[in-house]
Amino acid sequence: ALVTAVRDISAHKEMEAYLKNIANSDALTGVGNRRFFLEEGKKEYARAQRYSQPLSLLMMDIDKFKNINDTYGHDIGDIALKALTDICCETIRDSDIFARLGGEEFATIMPGTDIDGAFKLAERLRVAIEAMVTPTPKGDIRFTASMGVTTMRGSAQEGEDIEIMLNRSDKGLYAAKEGGRNRVVVV
Ligand code: GH3
Ligand code: MG
Ligand code: MG
Repeated sequence: ALVTAVRDISAHKEMEAYLKNIANSDALTGVGNRRFFLEEGKKEYARAQRYSQPLSLLMMDIDKFKNINDTYGHDIGDIALKALTDICCETIRDSDIFARLGGEEFATIMPGTDIDGAFKLAERLRVAIEAMVTPTPKGDIRFTASMGVTTMRGSAQEGEDIEIMLNRSDKGLYAAKEGGRNRVVVV
C-alpha cells in the first residue's frame, strides 16, 4: 500500500509540474509567458530588495512585424518569432529571465545588473538582431527590434514593483519607436 501511495504521490507531483509548465510557457517559442515573467519578476524584485542588489528590466518589440506577416504570411512571422527567441536566449545570461509577453513583445529581467550593464546588453541584443539573417521557406528575412530599458529605483514600500518597472520600460520602448525604431531607450 505504501509503495502504491508513494507512486501516486510522485505521479501527482509529475502531473502538477507538467501542468504548471504548460500554464507558464509560450506554446510557439517554448520560453516563459507573461504569467511566468511576472511571477519570477516578483521573486527577483524581492530578492534584489533584500540583498540590496540592482535589478534591471528590458522590454523589446519587433519593428514593423506586421509587414513580415503581410509580405510572407503568418507562418514566416512565426519563424521570425522563434529566431528572435533563439538569439535572445543565446545572448542573455543563464540567471536572466526571458519571456514572451505576447505577440511580438518580449522582456528580460536582469538580476544583479545595473542600468549601464542593462543598456550594454540591450545594445548587444539590438545589434545581434539587426545582423541576423533568418532562413525561411520563402527566402532569407531580416528584421530589427526596439527596446526600453529601466532599473529598480524604489522599494515595495515606496510603491514600486515589477509591473511598474515593466510599465516604465514600455514607455522607453514607445520612445524608441517614436525615435525611429531599431534603438534602445533608457528610462
Ligand atoms: P511597430 O514597429 O510599431 O511595432 O509595428 P508592428 O507592425 O510590429 O506592430 P503591430 O502591433 O501593428 O503589429 C504586431 C503584429 O504582430 C500584428 C499581429 O498580427 C502580429 N502577431 C501577433 N502575434 C503573432 C504570432 O504569434 N504570430 C505571428 N506570425 N504574428 C503575430
Ligand atoms: Mg512591433
Ligand atoms: Mg507590439
